[in-house]
Amino acid sequence: MTSTAPDPSQTAFVSSGLAALARPSRLVFPIDSPVLLAKLIAASARTTPSARPPLRLTDLARFDSILSAFSRTWEHGTVVVHRDDTGNRTLVVLDVQLGPSALPRPAKKRKRPVRDEDADSATGDPEDEHVDADAAPGEDEHADPPTSPSRHLSRELREVYAILQRGTAKGRLLAERFRSTNAFEPVCPRITKDDCAKFRAQAQGADSGSSICPRVHFRPIIRAHTDPSLGHCSYLNTCYSEPTYALSPSIPPLPSAPRPPGTMSTPVSLPSGLGAGGRGKEKAPCRYLHYEVDWDEGDGSAFVANSNTSQGGVTFSQRDSSKEVAKAQEFKLPIGLGPTSEDKPLLPPQWINCDLRRFDYSVLGKFHVIMADPPWDIHMSLPYGTMTDDEMRAMPIPALQDEGLLFLWVTGRAMEVGRECLRVWGYTRVDEVVWIKTNQLQRVIRTGRTGHWLNHTKEHMLVAVKTRTDSAGNIVYPSWCNRGLDTDVIVSEVRETSRKPDEVYGLIERMCPGGRKIEIFGRKHNTRPGWLTLGNQLGADQLYEEDLKSRIQARYPERISISNPSAGSQSIAR
Ligand code: SAH
Repeated sequence: MTSTAPDPSQTAFVSSGLAALARPSRLVFPIDSPVLLAKLIAASARTTPSARPPLRLTDLARFDSILSAFSRTWEHGTVVVHRDDTGNRTLVVLDVQLGPSALPRPAKKRKRPVRDEDADSATGDPEDEHVDADAAPGEDEHADPPTSPSRHLSRELREVYAILQRGTAKGRLLAERFRSTNAFEPVCPRITKDDCAKFRAQAQGADSGSSICPRVHFRPIIRAHTDPSLGHCSYLNTCYSEPTYALSPSIPPLPSAPRPPGTMSTPVSLPSGLGAGGRGKEKAPCRYLHYEVDWDEGDGSAFVANSNTSQGGVTFSQRDSSKEVAKAQEFKLPIGLGPTSEDKPLLPPQWINCDLRRFDYSVLGKFHVIMADPPWDIHMSLPYGTMTDDEMRAMPIPALQDEGLLFLWVTGRAMEVGRECLRVWGYTRVDEVVWIKTNQLQRVIRTGRTGHWLNHTKEHMLVAVKTRTDSAGNIVYPSWCNRGLDTDVIVSEVRETSRKPDEVYGLIERMCPGGRKIEIFGRKHNTRPGWLTLGNQLGADQLYEEDLKSRIQARYPERISISNPSAGSQSIAR
């Protein structure tokens, strides 16, 4: 049996779950198999909460093979699938039709919205919008039978019908037209145009003109009662005193409040009980600073240093009046190509099976990124051997890097020991990522298996940097590192004991595209293109970097045939 071969309980689970979901037409086609699997699992959790479903979200390959088998023969009807071989090879379910044996009892009529026969399938079926696609099978036993016109067709014709039901180019274009565009409007870290212009003038030198950046700026609202020396109100535009707050569409109008003559707005029931201008219980206007967006024609387009005009103390560049003023330019975060400044294809995953306490790190060369999830001695029973604090401190991490980033997972008492190790190894901690653990239903885990005082819902990964110094002794941070792209929170599902979320690789690879990356204390599932993984549960080594292979062969001559990953499963430096 291969690793993706399903067992009978899994096949039965998919078969009955699919029939239950298809019976009340709760599926909208085409549907990607990962989404369908999530729906089946969610539906079974609702109907039989105590039973563990025999398939998990990670069993996608098995699920796909079950669906493929059903597309040939399925006891309840017909399943039409299609595999997209061009892109990510996702299995797409084009249609599921129940056969006569699976059709439900006649049922009471349900009101249906009028259907526009001209509506294009790709823009969405109006009926489907009224259906809770996630509702549990069985909850709607008396729903109408499927009314698909394809029900009485032969299998072949049903396949043709299902293909015809797929989105057309016209539909996709229409859907694209109405898709909300990226609403990300980056805010200038200097906040006001004045400060932005001053900052840029300082940074770029006096002759650069005082242009401002194309991001969004704010200007302070100075009212009679404002005292700028107090600084900004922490509620800002959500302060009850702010007139703009009263315009929020989520605040209900005061019961039967008449609209004051000459105004467009109706008095609203602010939480303070006052109209805007009152401040909570104090019934006084807020004296702190508030802000409004400072947007002038031409803002957001590229400003040129020359031919400037002055407005309100800030100098703006003149734009070509014959051209239409761009409202805002698409903002792209500057993303560098990483340490090598090249966009090269990554090497396939490489790994070395070894005992990291004894392995000679000098053969590995230098890395731009290190990630480590050590077997800290956290006084807990773990399915692998742990390392003492002294062994951890003594690890030759400094040999692996001259300049670069180190990502170190820490938990429990290792939150302190880990920080100490960073200092011993010569690193500066600059950040910390938390991983919020979710369960299969994508809810936050609240009854953790770890934690003596509180249940642990999160894990921590320290972000540290090893820097060079310039001739004057100043610290020089790695210039190739893309900063400010990701946030420091990952929300992701828990998997096997100690297994960390895959999202972390995306975060690291965005900070450091390309370059050499090593993961120590990794397992087989951690191996990735562009990374070298070291650990003692990896099996036969796999190496592609020629110089690395020859250094290892020279240092460990007893090692046979590491150049051919399939030739042996011997590990090095035992
Ligand atoms: N980050 C991993 C989990 C790491 S658990 C994941 O996402 O799955 C720690 C790993 O370190 C285990 O595989 C353990 O077997 C390995 N390990 C423990 N002691 C080791 C040693 N001395 N040398 C190499 N690997 C070791």
